[in-house]
Amino acid sequence: MLRGATAIVCALAARGAAHRAGLSAQPRQRRWRACLGAVVMLALGLFALEDGVLVALGQLGEPIGWRSWVWVLLDLVIPAQVLAALATLRQRDRLEAELAAAAQRDPLTGLPNRAGFTEAASAVLAAAARDGRPVAGAMLDIDHFKAINDGWGHGAGDAVLRDVAAAMRAVLRPGDVLARIGGEEFAVVLSGVDTQAARPLIERLRAAAAAVPHPGARERRVTLSGGLAPVQGLGLAALENGLRSADGALYAAKAAGRNRVMVAG
Ligand code: GH3
Ligand code: MG
Ligand code: MG
Repeated sequence: MLRGATAIVCALAARGAAHRAGLSAQPRQRRWRACLGAVVMLALGLFALEDGVLVALGQLGEPIGWRSWVWVLLDLVIPAQVLAALATLRQRDRLEAELAAAAQRDPLTGLPNRAGFTEAASAVLAAAARDGRPVAGAMLDIDHFKAINDGWGHGAGDAVLRDVAAAMRAVLRPGDVLARIGGEEFAVVLSGVDTQAARPLIERLRAAAAAVPHPGARERRVTLSGGLAPVQGLGLAALENGLRSADGALYAAKAAGRNRVMVAG
């Protein structure tokens, strides 16, 4: 029975190793190692299975020799070792996935950072292009944020950033992308809307930010300005073009007195 267990565990390990080998994100060297692991585990599994079958068929009733005891020992050690190795590999895979996710996230707000935004927004653009839907992009910037830092400290500024981010995320649709791409600057990509339809959504973001308590006084409001533009085409260049136009509109909103959203063009 133990030999059967060895065979099963080895087969599982071989399957796990083969699966890892097939993961395209794995570096080449690791893929080779995983392939080798799969072959070795398969061989060990077959060996154990064959031995078990031989014992069952031919040696039943005979006294157990020292070789059989060695096999029994191996039957206990191999599954334990294989399972421990598998657990270590799984833990490393999890850690790698966590690190990759952390590299795309802003730790203060939990929103995607610039790298995360580029990836998520590119996916939105590709899906919208497939379905022939429009995409709108917006740049948002908190007004006079430096004054909050200067007046009430960096900690208060951080709290405002966290609260504004959470308030805006709460009013967006799940498929929309909101990211903190700079100090107090946020970028938004809205799928399935042109700039006209996107405008009320961006106004909702402005209203959400205005509900965040100002560190100075209860009656004071955190305000932000926004610029909105269409994002036409696919890929990074299209995204950058659209956001550049949105940035121009944001600049115009600041110049016109802040606390407003303007549309490019
Ligand atoms: P405007 O209305 O023209 O946008 O003015 P502003 O004061 O908001 O913009 P400015 O660019 O002058 O200042 C932005 C400030 O944001 C300066 C920088 O120290 C601060 N900042 C950048 N990152 C962080 C952060 O992570 N936390 C805090 N608390 N402050 C930050
Ligand atoms: Mg600002
Ligand atoms: Mg700014």
